[in-house]
Amino acid sequence: MKTKLVLNFNPEASNLPITHNLTAKYGLLVNILRAEIDEVGGKMVIEVSGKAESIKNGIDYLKEAGVGVRPIKEGVRRDDDACTHCGVCISICPTKALSLDRETRKVIFTEEKCVACGVCIDACPPRAMEILI
Ligand code: SF4
Ligand code: SF4
Repeated sequence: MKTKLVLNFNPEASNLPITHNLTAKYGLLVNILRAEIDEVGGKMVIEVSGKAESIKNGIDYLKEAGVGVRPIKEGVRRDDDACTHCGVCISICPTKALSLDRETRKVIFTEEKCVACGVCIDACPPRAMEILI
């Protein structure tokens, strides 16, 4: 199975080799979708793949290591009423989930292409994009 997780790091946990350990100790494949982390802490969004029990054990390991773990259940949504179609998000979306309809000049959000990396969330001026956790 596959799941996406938002990880929050305090200073103590920020230097732990967590992606290495999730792979080496729990046999999980880890794909880092977004990372904003330094020595004082930060946030990371990862996608982990593996057996359900291994994922559960991996999450337990993260929590015991002091890492905050929140599963992303539904991905990312756009508040269509808040979106001003400014286009800021188009060039920064790594998967082209946000694109311009050249006829209407509106920005289209294609949820199927979204990997919930979260890049657009901070970049969107009216905060129309939100992560569902
Ligand atoms: S950055 Fe936000 S307001 Fe601008 S087009 Fe993208 S979702 Fe809409
Ligand atoms: S979270 Fe935003 S930037 Fe990331 S893939 Fe989804 S739409 Fe694109």
